[in-house]
Amino acid sequence: MDGDAHDLEDTPLAQRWREARPPAAGVHVDSAACSRQSVAVIEATAQHARHEAEVGGYVAAEAAAPVLDAGRAAVRVLAGMPDAEVVFTTGSNNALDILLADWPGERTLACLQGEFGPNLAIMARHGFEVRTLPLEESGRLDVNAIGAALAHDPPALVHFTVLGSHSGVVQPARAMASACHGHGIPLIVDAAQGFAHIDVAGIGADALYSSSRKWTAGPRGVGVLATKPGFLSEATRQRISHTEANVGMHVGFSVALGEHVAAGVEAVQARLREVGAATRRALADVRGWRVLEALDEPSAITTLRPPDGVDAQDVRARLIAEHSIVATYLGTERAPREMNRPALRVSPHVDVTAADLGRVAEALAEVTPG
Ligand SMILES: *Cc1c(COP(=O)(O)O)cnc(C)c1O
Repeated sequence: MDGDAHDLEDTPLAQRWREARPPAAGVHVDSAACSRQSVAVIEATAQHARHEAEVGGYVAAEAAAPVLDAGRAAVRVLAGMPDAEVVFTTGSNNALDILLADWPGERTLACLQGEFGPNLAIMARHGFEVRTLPLEESGRLDVNAIGAALAHDPPALVHFTVLGSHSGVVQPARAMASACHGHGIPLIVDAAQGFAHIDVAGIGADALYSSSRKWTAGPRGVGVLATKPGFLSEATRQRISHTEANVGMHVGFSVALGEHVAAGVEAVQARLREVGAATRRALADVRGWRVLEALDEPSAITTLRPPDGVDAQDVRARLIAEHSIVATYLGTERAPREMNRPALRVSPHVDVTAADLGRVAEALAEVTPG
């Protein structure tokens, strides 16, 4: 019943990651929602607050400037955008809001069918007419049809979510970027799930944004936006660089980015691919549940469709209450144009063990009625 996760070795990378954090109260398989921060990140954030009390918030912010510069430099490396302008935001949605409010052109945009629900709401709020990009059967962008689709009725912008909130399917962002370049269409990439997880370096986007709390394991309420020089108007850049911000959280995020780079960007990506495969193998045989991704889909997000009549929200609550296992309930509002029923998401970080995955499989079977 506990699947076949024993092939997930506990590597030095996994051990270091685990030892850097407070022990988890149970099994945390919810990184796509919010990862566990390291002690160093928590302490850097608290230390900044203490420094604000000692020397004053504005003086402390000046003292923190080199740490924030290092954080922005790490973002340029991870995004593969060496000359990007990088600003901290309050999250991914905040970044999209900034980008669309600033957009000077026609308000038409193309995105995937599985676009994140809150993103669709932001697009609507800014008056964008939304078209969908062609898909293959698998739910992946149809790379062969994309050129014709863009030529037929070119949108002013493409917004591309490289990895969704409702699915572990990795979308072909580089093919999307080359099609956009061929048609002279600017490309915005939502890397809320992709950043610090899969390879998003050098996609060729005009703008890329992400959140701190997900795979980077920084504090909540923080995000980042990287844009090619000149993509944002001067007025918007001035405005956002003078907006009141929780500098301590930017410090914490910068420390988390530094830890991620130090762990080895490619080593983390490789480990997360192994974790995804091991998770899907462990959960493939839980009675009545269906793993929606291919076993070797190169991400650490596993989506499970519940058996008929089983309420995924109730299952999520019982996993926490009865087994101290934290996973995510996915309502259809996550991807309203693609999801036709709710699901459960299991998204461990690099430190998950074969034993943890066995516990998740056993507990899931136990809390499933019928
Ligand atoms: C979480 C998420 C967002 C929103 O991020 P916030 O930081 O909560 O604003 C956007 N897109 C995707 C794909 C996400 O998973």
